[in-house]
Amino acid sequence: MPTYTPPLRDMQFVLHEVFKVTDEFKAMPAHAEVDADTINAVLEEAGKFAAGVAFPLNISGDTEGCTLNQQTHEVTTPKGFKEAYAQYVEGGWAALSCDTAYGGQGLPHTVNQCLYEMLNSANQAWTMYPGLSHGAYEALLAHGTDEQKKTYLPKLVSGEWTGTMCLTEPHCGTDLGLLRTKAEPVGDGTYKITGNKIFISAGEHNFTSNIVHLVLARLPDAPKGSKGISLFVVPKFKVNADGSIGERNPIYCTGLEHKMGIHGNATAQIAIDGAIGTLVGEPNKGLAAMFVMMNAARLGVGNQSLGLTEVAFQNALAYAKDRIQMRSLSGTKAKDKEADPIIVHPDVRKMLLTAKAYAEGARALQIFCTLLLDKAHSHPDEKVRKDSDELVALLTPIVKAFITDNGHIATNACMQVFGGHGFIKEWGMEQFVRDNRINMIYEGTNTVQSLDLLGRKVLGNNGATLKKFGKLVGQLVAEEGVNEKMAEFINPIAYLGDQLPKFTTEIGFRGFQNPDEVGAAAVDYLRVAGHLVFGYMFARMAQVALREIAAGNTDPFYQAKLQTARFYFAKLFPEVHTLMRTARAGSKVLMDTDAALA
Ligand SMILES: Cc1cc2nc3c(=O)[nH]c(=O)nc-3n(C[C@H](O)[C@H](O)[C@H](O)COP(=O)(O)OP(=O)(O)OC[C@H]3O[C@@H](n4cnc5c(N)ncnc54)[C@H](O)[C@@H]3O)c2cc1C
Repeated sequence: MPTYTPPLRDMQFVLHEVFKVTDEFKAMPAHAEVDADTINAVLEEAGKFAAGVAFPLNISGDTEGCTLNQQTHEVTTPKGFKEAYAQYVEGGWAALSCDTAYGGQGLPHTVNQCLYEMLNSANQAWTMYPGLSHGAYEALLAHGTDEQKKTYLPKLVSGEWTGTMCLTEPHCGTDLGLLRTKAEPVGDGTYKITGNKIFISAGEHNFTSNIVHLVLARLPDAPKGSKGISLFVVPKFKVNADGSIGERNPIYCTGLEHKMGIHGNATAQIAIDGAIGTLVGEPNKGLAAMFVMMNAARLGVGNQSLGLTEVAFQNALAYAKDRIQMRSLSGTKAKDKEADPIIVHPDVRKMLLTAKAYAEGARALQIFCTLLLDKAHSHPDEKVRKDSDELVALLTPIVKAFITDNGHIATNACMQVFGGHGFIKEWGMEQFVRDNRINMIYEGTNTVQSLDLLGRKVLGNNGATLKKFGKLVGQLVAEEGVNEKMAEFINPIAYLGDQLPKFTTEIGFRGFQNPDEVGAAAVDYLRVAGHLVFGYMFARMAQVALREIAAGNTDPFYQAKLQTARFYFAKLFPEVHTLMRTARAGSKVLMDTDAALA
């Protein structure tokens, strides 16, 4: 059976030592009082919930899955899920980073980020129920009318109700411009919604008395394509004027998907049969409103893979210390044993360190991004808010795609550490691999994230935001460029920071002549950009570790940080050379293949 220990010390290192978040919070009136002790105490309690309540339900939830009663359209979630959710609500976790105006605790997003990392390690399938609610809360907070906010936000904040995002239809996933669900004005300010949605996560369950669906649909006079999509809030049960639950709205779960992983989460087919909803935001501007939820979800999906990478690493490490097979190539290490523990073998170490490095890089990037989100929401200086917002927009596809692709590499590597036992269910490792696999697909496939990064976020503004990130890299290089001890961490990012703008211009120029060049390069490009971002994170972490060691701190924690950073730059980062080469190989070899694919 797998185990999980919340990585509190690692989180504290990134929060307090690398990014000094409380110094940043002091500049934000909403968070000025949040100190390190408070954050640490909250995370310690959060870790207890994740490890003690959510984690024990991970394997049983996977085995049991969800069941649908076709007559009542009600879904039963795995044993213990509902009770765990009640405990979550009781503990106030749903409200942690929500607006105090709606009953939230008003803590920074950065703290919520760490709570969710631990929940995802513990049980991704369960965590998706509250996770999607939080996204629905953010979309309504940003775009809801006063009436909608009054009706829905306090319930979503407390966790009394949950939320969903209903975009996908059988014929339309990536291309939402194709969607057909219809919304007809009733004449009293409400709309009658009709259509079919599929793949709706947490789309039906037995946790709460109501479910708040955010549904994309078309108004009768809507233009074709993505410019004709509007967003509606459609509750499972209508809400009376006094806030009490009213009659059942005809929005039903008609089927549950049988899937590769996250079995404990109900992935629902939803039939909407004239259900009554209200418009969120402006007519035909629904995608813009939904993007608030989608962007939050994209950061959240990166966080899912961070969680799985961490828990897979912890278990693979314990196994590698315990399992004995063969002797070390450089001579017997465990003389008292029949064979050496497999951790002595270089390739087993490589697999372990790959997962460790991808977890630590991802944690730093996720916290860096949520700190930017806090600044974008709460900083008094408008320029800081705008710059932070732009940087998060640039980094969001990298968080989503790079961290989830790395999660795939890492969870597979950790399963491999177990040899044949990794393939056997009882060790839990194959579940981490299966659960992680969806993270590369939903919330916009990783290909789509790459196109968003290269096409929209980089070439779309002539590399202006990329330059801003490049400036951060440049500052660190300038700060540490003469420090010999930092050279092994600084030189690679100085090199890539210099190469990336040239590489971008080259791809952009080719794309100008033939747009398929952008499509052919985008996935490789995102990984290159991802490594620049991770490289920056590792250099910042190494900088702190070196300073501590120079100041006489003998805590092995800091040596471990340096060793992981060294491994990252020596064994993982260099793939950027191959990736730039394959990106430069262009589109011809892909597009001139009609004969090969005939
Ligand atoms: C378990 C699960 C949970 C989900 N949860 C939700 C949810 O809560 N709400 C919701 O609305 N949806 C949800 N989804 C749907 C999910 O977001 C979509 O499956 C995903 O966006 C991809 O859409 P699709 O499946 O239709 O694939 P398609 O769009 O048909 O894509 C097929 C392939 O073509 C590629 N492709 C498509 N367009 C391009 C392009 N322009 N350039 C290059 N490649 C392209 C894709 O990358 C992919 O590899 C969920 C799906 C699953 C499986």
